Amino acid sequence: MKYISTRGQAPELTFDEAMLTGLARDGGLYVPAEIPSFTRAEIEAMAGLSYEEIAYQVMRPFVGDAFTDEEFAGCITRAYKSFGHAARAPLVQLNENHYLLELFHGPTLAFKDFAMQLIGQLFQLALGKRGERVTIVGATSGDTGSAAIEAFRGLENVDVFILYPHGRVSEVQRRQMTTPADSNVHALALDGDFDDCQARVKDMFNHFDFRDGVRLAGVNSINWARVLAQVVYYFTSAVTLGAPRRRISFSVPTGNFGDVFAGYIAGRMGLPIDRLVVATNQNDILHRCISGAGYHKGAVLPSISPSMDIQVSSNFERALFFAYDRDAGAVRQLMDELKAGGFDVSQGALEALQDIYLSGRVSEEETSQAITDWLATTGELLCPHSAIGVKIGEDLREAATPMVTLATAHPAKFPAAVEAATGVHPPLPPRMADLYERPERVTRIANDLDAIETHIKGHIAK
Ligand SMILES: *Cc1c(COP(=O)(O)O)cnc(C)c1O
Repeated sequence: MKYISTRGQAPELTFDEAMLTGLARDGGLYVPAEIPSFTRAEIEAMAGLSYEEIAYQVMRPFVGDAFTDEEFAGCITRAYKSFGHAARAPLVQLNENHYLLELFHGPTLAFKDFAMQLIGQLFQLALGKRGERVTIVGATSGDTGSAAIEAFRGLENVDVFILYPHGRVSEVQRRQMTTPADSNVHALALDGDFDDCQARVKDMFNHFDFRDGVRLAGVNSINWARVLAQVVYYFTSAVTLGAPRRRISFSVPTGNFGDVFAGYIAGRMGLPIDRLVVATNQNDILHRCISGAGYHKGAVLPSISPSMDIQVSSNFERALFFAYDRDAGAVRQLMDELKAGGFDVSQGALEALQDIYLSGRVSEEETSQAITDWLATTGELLCPHSAIGVKIGEDLREAATPMVTLATAHPAKFPAAVEAATGVHPPLPPRMADLYERPERVTRIANDLDAIETHIKGHIAK
């Protein structure tokens, strides 16, 4: 299996190479040169299998020769054994045909654990085989960083540096990043917003002297291996609800477009997905774009769903690549225009996007109201991100087609917003109850490439 860049000017890589590289050297994102697909009978036969068994079947064709069957199966087993629910991703029924897919039973209580726990295992195996070590650098609006630190802490061949926007992540998110004591993990609080964090990470990847000198690797949601791990729960949930005999729609609280793009891949693999609903908060660049208004950057507005507070959505480049019929030249041109503020999408590409994606935007007040209402009517306590997905999913749902909303985080990860909306303080699961007592360790850093690179060079293990 070969991987190609969305911008067409980087070398083709194998699965493990693409995973260890992250961002392509031409600035693009790696995508599989071909997307393998299942027959109807193969999907039917998934009914009744465990999460791990379906994960193996769905991901194995993408991995190629990078790992043996046994190695890959072992990584999957180890990745999900720390999850706090036997189903890994259980479904809860909200009303007659709307379901919640709970993706928050991993060690940091957000869906990022599904990909990050697996990627930790795959990195360790790949680097051990090669006798190499890498420096992982990531930007986070909160959940990616804690998931990465949890997945890589204490691993021998990896140093991890996570940039998060100072003062703009929840206290639980911050503490999950700053309290692990392992010497190979480093939390950096950057004076800026999430887009600044993401931009500095991109700068480091485009600074080849630095990139090669510290052997930079990326685990942000641009990493193909992360997208791949997220394809799995579209299959497990759809099969549980009767696919392939029924079509299923999904509503996905969206920021960087990784999670919802995994749904697109599931569809291309043969899963009968009716619609993918891109649910955004007041930072609605994706909703505007899918509605036909072009992709034009604005300022980031802080919200009560901070993991979706972005204006530049990295994985959207992959969606554009396919909407433009894999025309890397067209993608390069759009990304050049984006540097100057934005671009318009061609009529053909817009139709391709609208063929599968629906979209909606939820204001701050509506988010709180949704948390209040769904607790009252169903007894479910939703985190603000999940509430946005449920609200738009319910608004756009068609009676005959099951709607599955991805519950992307546990309500206890965002206790202030949940308590303000409901009066209920969501408790942390017992295994994390002492989070507020553990000592914190963090470096505050300027939004300055030089300062960040110097800090990293000074703190990697030699
Ligand atoms: C990361 C995250 C999102 C957004 O997911 P993307 O893949 O970036 O679109 C939504 N909700 C929560 C809780 C998250 O952590």
